[in-house]
Amino acid sequence: MSKSSTRIALVTGASRGLGRNTALKLAQQGVDLILTYKDSESDAHEVVRQIEALGRRAVALRLDMADSRSFGAFADCVKSVLAQSWQREQFDYLVNNAGIGFQASFADTTEEQFDLLFNIHLKGTFFLTQKLLPLLKDGGRIVNTSSGLARFTFPGYAAYATMKGGIEVLTRYLAKELGSRGITVNTIAPGAIETDFGGGMVRDNPQVNAHLSSVTALGRVGLPDDVGGAIAALLSEGNNWVTGQRIEVSGGMML
Ligand code: NAP
Repeated sequence: MSKSSTRIALVTGASRGLGRNTALKLAQQGVDLILTYKDSESDAHEVVRQIEALGRRAVALRLDMADSRSFGAFADCVKSVLAQSWQREQFDYLVNNAGIGFQASFADTTEEQFDLLFNIHLKGTFFLTQKLLPLLKDGGRIVNTSSGLARFTFPGYAAYATMKGGIEVLTRYLAKELGSRGITVNTIAPGAIETDFGGGMVRDNPQVNAHLSSVTALGRVGLPDDVGGAIAALLSEGNNWVTGQRIEVSGGMML
């Protein structure tokens, strides 16, 4: 495949968890990657090595979703990387995945905690996408990450789920506004998945894991492969007529 027809995806928060799995699944599909990390630099470089071992090209860049003032410089960096590594001006797919988990009752949530969740999940996704838009190809695709928790309730997620609900509304508005450029925009809403998220509670706490499995139609919690595979499928060639949709990837949680 020539460099101009190579598909390039930018996946945020791909040093670990769902972002890493998505990046690797996309590489297996022949896609090159720009991936971001915040603190886990060596993990991100390991993901780059794994992608290169699959025969694809990858570059890791640092990004803090909580710092929207840095997004202009980040976009400039993406522009330089595209020129240097691919001799290209634009990329094809944006996967807004980076995020943090946090549990506190509505009554106990502080303004600082609310602001951090807001900045990373909602403001970050809004303005990072805005800054990257000139670098996204016409006909490209955006996947935003919500959560099953935006559909059903679970104790301690009022603030987190509020941000994810906003992501789902933003997805529909983006799908409408970017439709004229042929860009599709969809939300993936994972259920409970075994990652480091929220201190690794779903993976490491046997009681939580058993309870969540018992309220899931397919009888277990999700694994990163379940979500990375779904995002890669959404971004596969031929899947170009789905836009403005919320696709829950939860094995049927809380149906
Ligand atoms: P994870 O394993 O904890 O990984 C989080 C990723 O996001 C890491 O790569 C981390 O980078 C990055 N990140 C964290 N804070 C960041 C910040 N301020 N700026 C930029 N990057 C940041 O979590 P995950 O389970 O993969 O979650 C990924 C997404 O799925 C999140 O949006 C989460 O809300 C959503 N989700 C997860 C679940 C679940 O059960 N796991 C369910 C529903 C939705 P560094 O390590 O480099 O700092």
